[in-house]
Amino acid sequence: MDSIFTKIIKGEIPCYKVDENDRFIAFLDINPKAEGHTLVIPKKQIDRIWDLDDELYHALWDYAKEIAAKIENAIACDRVGMWVEGLEVPHAHVHLVPLPSNGFYGLKKPEKTDDAYMQSVAQKISK
Ligand code: AMP
Repeated sequence: MDSIFTKIIKGEIPCYKVDENDRFIAFLDINPKAEGHTLVIPKKQIDRIWDLDDELYHALWDYAKEIAAKIENAIACDRVGMWVEGLEVPHAHVHLVPLPSNGFYGLKKPEKTDDAYMQSVAQKISK
């Protein structure tokens, strides 16, 4: 069964895309913990990140590093943090989140997450 992320990758569901190549896609989390909260996802649907083959696993982190640099350029923050859970969507993904200097405890959810706002954030990061 296709995950919601596979449906996005297939273009069946929209997303606020930040970047894409033949193997990975990065788009905004629909429920952002902070402005610029981005998900980095291998197009191959595999539930647990530890089950990716070594080559894809390392390539995912290389790609996440590229996207983190884009986020850091676009969004005012101390640094870009990351986490992996996968409890909600069974399709391996990395969360990248711009952090203030007091880290995850200082995260502020954006006040609005309407379409225009999400589009503008995705556009800023993707430049
Ligand atoms: P987790 O699987 O616990 O790492 O969390 C999955 C994340 O995916 C959550 O932060 C959701 O807000 C996010 N999410 C779920 N559906 C979508 C979607 N259609 N577009 C963007 N983000 C999504």
